[in-house]
Amino acid sequence: MELGISGRKAIVCAASKGLGKACAMALAQEGVELVINARTPEILEQTAEEIRTHTGVPVTAVACDITTEAGRQAVLAACPDPDILVNNAGGPPPGDFRDWQHDDWIAAVEANMLTPIMLIKAVVDGMQDRQFGRIVNITSGAVKAPIPSLGLSNGARSGLTGFVAGLARQTVAHNVTINNLLPGPFETDRLQQTLQGAAKQQGKTLDQIIELRRQSNPAGRFGDPDEFGAACAFLCASQSGFISGQNLLIDGGAFPGTF
Ligand code: NAP
Repeated sequence: MELGISGRKAIVCAASKGLGKACAMALAQEGVELVINARTPEILEQTAEEIRTHTGVPVTAVACDITTEAGRQAVLAACPDPDILVNNAGGPPPGDFRDWQHDDWIAAVEANMLTPIMLIKAVVDGMQDRQFGRIVNITSGAVKAPIPSLGLSNGARSGLTGFVAGLARQTVAHNVTINNLLPGPFETDRLQQTLQGAAKQQGKTLDQIIELRRQSNPAGRFGDPDEFGAACAFLCASQSGFISGQNLLIDGGAFPGTF
C-alpha cells in the first residue's frame, strides 16, 4: 500500500533504539525526511546512518534530552515545520509508589506527559495552516490495563491520553490527526529493564521471567519493533485523515477485554 507521504518531514523523538527507531525506519521507508533525537550522540548517529543507508532519505540527528526545554528547541530548530511528529521518551522506572518522592513524579510527568504536550503545542497550528499533520504518541498498554510496578507510567501517560482525547477532536477538521500507540511487550532494551525489575521482585531469574512472559502472551512471543513501526507509518499515511483520538493497543492480544 502506497502511504502517500513521500517527501513529508517528520520529527521522531527518542529514536536511536527500540520503538522510536522502528517508527523512524518505517517512515523513512515511505520516503519521509527525518529529524531524529536521543541523548547518546554516538548511538544516535549510528542509527541515522543506518536509516540513510537503508532508505536513502535525509536524516538529521539532534542529540539532546527531549524532556528539557532546550532539547525540544534544538529539535524544533532542525525541523520547524514538521508534517509528522512522533512523540516518545524513555519510560519511568518500576518500583513501589511508597518510595517515589515528589521529584520522581515530576520527572515522569515531564517526560511522558508534558514533553509531548509542549511539542504538540509547538507544531499543531502550523500543521493546521498547511492542512496536513499526523501526530503519534508512543504511550503504553499500561494506559488501558495498569501495570502495578509501573505506577509512574500508569499515571503520567494517562494524563497525556486525557489531554489528547480532547485536542484530537479539534484538529481533525484541518486534516491534523493525533493518535496514541500503546505497546504491549516489545523486544527492546526497555523490556529487558522492566523484566529485570520483575525478576528481582518475584525472586526469579531473568530467563525464567522472559519465558513466563512470552508464554503468557496469546501470541506466544514478544512483539517485533518493526511491527510497531509499520503501525505508526500507517497512522501517518495520507489515507489516515479520518482516524483521530484513538488508542491503538499493539500487544499480541494480551489485553483480555472484548473492546
Ligand atoms: P528503548 O529500547 O530503551 O529505547 C529508548 C530510546 O529513547 C533510546 O533511543 C533512548 O536513547 C531514547 N531516550 C530515552 N530517554 C530520552 C530522553 N530523555 N530524550 C531523548 N531520547 C531519549 O525503549 P523502547 O522499548 O523503545 O520504549 C519506548 C517507549 O515505549 C518508552 O517510553 C517505554 O516505556 C514505552 N513502552 C515500551 C514497551 C516495550 O515493551 N518495549 C512497552 C510499553 C511501553 P538515549 O538513552 O541515548 O537517550
